[in-house]
Formats: sequence, C-alpha cells, structure tokens
Amino acid sequence: MYKAFLIKYSEIGIKGKNRYVFEDALVRNIAKALAGVEGEFEVSKEQGRIYIEAKSDYDYDGACEVLQKVFGIAAICPAELVDDKSWENVCKKVCEFVDEQYGDKNFTFKVFAKRSDKTYPFTSPEIGKELGAVLIDRFPDMKVDVHEPAVRITVEIRECAYIYSKTIPGPGGMPVGSGGKAMLLLSGGIDSPVAGYMIAKRGVNMDAVYFHAPPYTSERAKKKVVDLARIISVYTGKIRLHVINFTEIQMAIYEKCPHDELTIIMRRYMMRIAEKLAIDSGCLSLITGESIGQVASQTMQSLAATNEVCTLPVFRPLIAFDKQDIITVSEKIDTFETSILPYEDCCTTFVAKHPVTKPDVKVIRKSETKLADIIDEMLERAYASDEIIEVG
Ligand code: ATP
Ligand code: MG
Repeated sequence: MYKAFLIKYSEIGIKGKNRYVFEDALVRNIAKALAGVEGEFEVSKEQGRIYIEAKSDYDYDGACEVLQKVFGIAAICPAELVDDKSWENVCKKVCEFVDEQYGDKNFTFKVFAKRSDKTYPFTSPEIGKELGAVLIDRFPDMKVDVHEPAVRITVEIRECAYIYSKTIPGPGGMPVGSGGKAMLLLSGGIDSPVAGYMIAKRGVNMDAVYFHAPPYTSERAKKKVVDLARIISVYTGKIRLHVINFTEIQMAIYEKCPHDELTIIMRRYMMRIAEKLAIDSGCLSLITGESIGQVASQTMQSLAATNEVCTLPVFRPLIAFDKQDIITVSEKIDTFETSILPYEDCCTTFVAKHPVTKPDVKVIRKSETKLADIIDEMLERAYASDEIIEVG
C-alpha cells in the first residue's frame, strides 16, 4: 500500500508570480475530491509539486478514481514515503520498493533522482547512478538501459524521500476555480453537459440554468437535468442550477410570432434570461452546447441571431465538434445514458415543421415587437419563478 501520491501538474508550472493561486486551487480541489474517499489524507504543496499523504489505511482504487477527475492534474504517481532519508535507509527502501512492486526482476530500468534538499551529501546524478548500482547488486536480473528503460524508478529527496515508478495520467486542464465563473445553459440533451465539462476543464466554475415548460415538459425531464448537473459536478465542482419557468413566454411566442421563427425567438429569450441570471450571480460569460449546422437553430445565421441579444461572451466549446465526437466525450464523462432518456424538451414540443435556417435578424427583431406589450411582465414572472437547486 502506497503511503503517498505525488501530483504533477503541467500548465500551472509555466505560470509566473501568481502560480500560487493555481496551486492553492488545485490543493483545495484535491482535498475536496478525497473527502469522499475512505481514509484520511493530508494534501500539501512544495516546490512545483503537490503531495498527498495517507494518514490512515485508505481506498487506493477510490483515491485514484477521484484524482483522475480533478482538472489541473497531469499525472498521479503513487509513491513510497520514506521519513528517514539517510543514504543507507534510502538504498534499503529502494530495494524493498522494487522487490514489492516487481515479482520478476528481468527488466531494464533507469533510476531518476531529484533533489530539492541541497544539503544532501550526493548530487542528483550521483544518487541515480549509485542507486542503479545498488539495485543491480541486489537483483542481478535487472539491467540498466539509460535510453529506453522499461521501468523508470524515480527517487525524490525533499523533506522526506519519495520513491515511485508508476504514473497514472491525470485529466489535464486547469484547476476549477482558477478561471472565473460562467453560466451554463443546461438542457437535458447530449451537448450542453459536455460543453460544461469542457469549459470546466479550463478552470472555470459554473452555475447553470434550465428552462422548464410545465406541463409541456414533465418533472421527469427536470429531474433528468438535475441528474446531469450532478454528474458533471464531479468535474465542475458545486453547481447552483436555476430552474426557470419558461411556459408563459413560450406560449406567447407561439401565439404571436411566425411559427417558423419560434425556435430562434425562444433561444433569444433564453439567452437574455441567462445573461441576467449570470450578471446577478457574478458570472462573466455564458456557455451553450451549440455546434455549427447541427440543427436549424445552429446555422451560422441562427447563431448570429441568437448571439445578438447578449453582451457577455458566449462560449460554445462544441462549435466545431461532430455529433459523434460529442457522444464520445459524453460517454467518457458518464452523461450519455442520462442524456438519451426520452423525455420531452421544451424546444421539441413547440418546434415548427419547417423552421427558418437562415433567419434575417431584422425580421426576427420585428417579429419580437409583437410581444412588446407583455414581455416585460412575463420576464419578471420568469425571474420570480427561479428555483435554485444546488448539486455537488
Ligand atoms: P443539447 O443536446 O445540449 O440539448 P441541442 O442539440 O438539443 O443541445 P438546442 O436545443 O438547439 O440544441 O439548444 C442549443 C443549446 O441551447 C443547448 O446546448 C443548451 O446550451 C441551450 N438550451 C436549449 N434548450 C435549453 C433549455 N431548455 N434549458 C437550458 N438551456 C437550453
Ligand atoms: Mg436540447
């Protein structure tokens, strides 16, 4: 059982003076992820590395699983922790480590050494070379290969010594919380949860909004969106999901505006409402699951018409993704099975048979004037209907 994990990060490493902001966010997120795993852990940072020390017996597989979902981690190295870093003890522990980890010793290897304790009696190259000799002496089947070793044994001499040879890839990205906050338009479909996941990967926290249209959309459809928010919150951290009652606005559009423009006008009101919620809750951008050409409301012209009503930047991380590529991600992050549950969606309930695919913004604006007398009151009622559900 490994007593520690060394956490390597990539992009944070190239940050300048504010690097600690990213490191601290990563330390916090790791501690939070491990809080749900059996065992006690201490997470700390030291010179370009984050260390996790297990303070009790713990669930190793569980720990690896949650760590692989913490953005900002490039690699996870389960390590042996050696308190007594005297040379004799390090030699002894490296031999024990190899003996425990590798039954058959017939492999090539190289010892990599790193030393942040500059008072240590050997330099890093000396430590590597000497330990290589010690290992061959003890296990004559092992062979050094400095160019392409099958096993890379790393020994780091810091406050303690760490020995590791295994590297589990992390998810990459930036620590959530280091990149500001956004408002995700979360429907029950395949795309929007994936869009949220992708933006979270760049370190962005998020709230979400779901436009609910009872009785045209059911409680089951709403629960599905809450479930999707909960699944992605493993990656994004806590999400405050706003559920907005959109029925009245949708009905008014249906009654007063040309049917072939329904979806576009509906999408414009969704964006307007999402933007107000975003501003009220400190979000600096919106996120949608749109992709060029996927449906009539996502042609270049439609996207331009939808975009027109917002002043905040709208992030559309799936814009150039094929549906199949989006599905592949949704399977990976475990949202696919929930997304394909066949519950009605407010956009499909009211969808026109032949929606415009190349809306003219001027025409759309004119159609919207038909709502002028009533829209402000309806928007007020929509904001007042806001039900906030917290997940994660
Ligand atoms: P998804 O798979 O994410 O539902 P979609 O292919 O069904 O997307 P649209 O219905 O055109 O596409 O919606 C485009 C985007 O608008 C969605 O990705 C989502 O961000 C947002 N959106 C659509 N409907 C809703 C809704 N009811 N509540 C919140 N956001 C929505
Ligand atoms: Mg949808």
